[in-house]
Amino acid sequence: MFRDSVAAFARKELAAGALARAHTPDFPRDVAKLMARTGLLGITMPEVDGGGGGTLMDAVLAIEQVAQYCPRSADVVAEGNFGAIRVLAHFGSADQKRRFLAPLLSGEEVIAVAMTEPNAGSATTDLETTATPDGEGFRINGSKVFPNPHADQYLVYVRYGPRVDGIGSVMIRRDTPGFSTGKISKFMSGADWAPIFFDNVYVPPQDVLLSAGGFKKQIAGFNAERIGNATRSLAYGQYCFDAARDYAMTRSQFGRPLCEFQGLQWKFADMKVKLDAARLLLYRAATNADKGFPAADETTIAKLMCNQTGFDVANEALQIMGGLGYTQETLVEYCVRRSRGWMIAGGSIEMLKNRLAEIIFERRFSQRPPRMPPHSPIPGP
Ligand SMILES: Cc1cc2nc3c(=O)[nH]c(=O)nc-3n(C[C@H](O)[C@H](O)[C@H](O)COP(=O)(O)OP(=O)(O)OC[C@H]3O[C@@H](n4cnc5c(N)ncnc54)[C@H](O)[C@@H]3O)c2cc1C
Repeated sequence: MFRDSVAAFARKELAAGALARAHTPDFPRDVAKLMARTGLLGITMPEVDGGGGGTLMDAVLAIEQVAQYCPRSADVVAEGNFGAIRVLAHFGSADQKRRFLAPLLSGEEVIAVAMTEPNAGSATTDLETTATPDGEGFRINGSKVFPNPHADQYLVYVRYGPRVDGIGSVMIRRDTPGFSTGKISKFMSGADWAPIFFDNVYVPPQDVLLSAGGFKKQIAGFNAERIGNATRSLAYGQYCFDAARDYAMTRSQFGRPLCEFQGLQWKFADMKVKLDAARLLLYRAATNADKGFPAADETTIAKLMCNQTGFDVANEALQIMGGLGYTQETLVEYCVRRSRGWMIAGGSIEMLKNRLAEIIFERRFSQRPPRMPPHSPIPGP
């Protein structure tokens, strides 16, 4: 019933503007306000915090249904349920929830995670943005790359001290003195990104989200972000599959509809198998999480499968739709561009495979160069 009511909402309210929304770089804030009224933001958050008290699976279903009618609006469901908002809702104090979470749930504000740095991409724990004690609070200095430069608030990964144990996070609003954004550039998807800078930004103690030692908690929360990322990949692949299927039944060449050519039928068969397999892996991770954070192994497998499937299916659907698929008259080319980014964001395909290898062999494989033993002989000539 929930799935059907979200589908009915998306068909009525979002379908008509889908093409225009996909080609507008701004985050669709009007859709966020609409979804807030409909209860699609904070689905997984406790009712006491202003959420819907639902499960992760409910939010996955919501993304799928919305994407079916407006792929871009699926981002609003994702941002309102899975990413930084979920970490904030889980670890934030009552005061932080009132000041930061409430305006997100009402669709008034947008949050972004600021984690990646110029010298710390996949090697997240190399981050250099510092949080230095100043009175009861902290001074933040450093820079981040790739976040949405138009967000109202940022969940910023910072370093309180050396090593992984020194990492935690703080909340910073864009109007805080010392916060600035650099030159705005575009992702392949058309969305904006920009470097952001912290020049002695003061963070009062009440805006510290996770103090030193909080990195593992942060990453546990990040697994929810990965489910949101994986769901959009899958949903975009499904959107393109459906568009190509309709096209193959109505477009004729050589006097017969495209769906009668075996060369294309086999593409559809392969796409269908991939989509079903990816969906089952995604649903496993989401269902087992229930109202908590999803498990690392199931999330890793689901994201790997959904990212690859979403892109492969969208790309193959574009091919089936010929020249039309390559134009901006349909959203298939948009879905190809968007799904490509999720193979990099939120844990790249390669880093996820590294993680999976550790799960399989039940041991850590350091990605860092081996250290020279302190008294190792100097190699001779
Ligand atoms: C669409 C999009 C949105 C994003 N949004 C945000 C955001 O909101 N906030 C934010 O903080 N960041 C964001 N990012 C950044 C993203 O998290 C990073 O791009 C990602 O972590 C990879 O880091 P990097 O780009 O520095 O690549 P690098 O770490 O330099 O990696 C380059 C390549 O090498 C591979 N590689 C690196 N190390 C290994 C290894 N040990 N083994 C095998 N392969 C390896 C990588 O997989 C990649 O293919 C976004 C990125 C994209 C594409």
